[in-house]
Amino acid sequence: MKVLVCVKQVAVLGDEVEFTDDERDVDPDYLDFALNEWDSYATEEALRLVEAAGSGEVVVVSVGDEDMEDGMRRCLAMGADRGIRVEAEGRLDPIQVARALAEVVQSESPDLVFAGVQSSDSVQAATGNALAGLLDLPSVAVVTKIDLGDGKATVNRELEGGLVDVVEVDTPAVITIQTGINEPRYATLRAIKQAEEKEIDMRQAGDLGEPGSRVRKMFVPPKGEGAEMLDGGAAEVAQRIKEIVQEKTA
Ligand code: AMP
Repeated sequence: MKVLVCVKQVAVLGDEVEFTDDERDVDPDYLDFALNEWDSYATEEALRLVEAAGSGEVVVVSVGDEDMEDGMRRCLAMGADRGIRVEAEGRLDPIQVARALAEVVQSESPDLVFAGVQSSDSVQAATGNALAGLLDLPSVAVVTKIDLGDGKATVNRELEGGLVDVVEVDTPAVITIQTGINEPRYATLRAIKQAEEKEIDMRQAGDLGEPGSRVRKMFVPPKGEGAEMLDGGAAEVAQRIKEIVQEKTA
């Protein structure tokens, strides 16, 4: 049983934010970094499935520069067996990341591929599905429970309004994992130390192509614009709302 988990070290905003001179990104001085929350749930789920199977391995894969390895080490400390990092610099769009991940999936032939539903810094919610598309594998998104069968898995998907879809999917498949599917384990200090010794294989990406989309500007929208706080009792507030509606519709 081999599960490959796509994991990303994400940028986390502090209390203050400044942008780079070209206004297309956050100034790195104003960022912290951490393992993407969704990916820690995906790693935990992979570990549980391999433990239940009694044998196998969990391989974590990241596309990016050396800083990605901090997130990978977190997963290795949780119990993942090894890591593969595909070297890539700069901002990639989800299709480019998926192209790099697809090469690894093809070389590893896992029984299952996990990705998070989304990464908290780029919020594309696209990479897992793009990967499935490139590999021509079935994919199931926003999964909150997995039961493995022979050549298939039965999974719960979270839908709007608290509804649950129970889906049977052929494996290998790409599954995007939702937070709350489990409770990710804490890595002990000893495990964190041991993870430093675990193998992270570095690979060069093939041709990832040009990004099909580009960030042109990033900004913080002005606070309070378009909102007027109304003070007073109910009648007074209702009167003011009536006036506002009349002004806007006049
Ligand atoms: P996104 O499509 O960027 O919202 O990310 C969704 C999921 O794709 C993440 O939770 C990861 O599992 C995976 N992913 C995104 N970017 C990377 C990356 N650079 N390296 C590895 N996995 C990634």
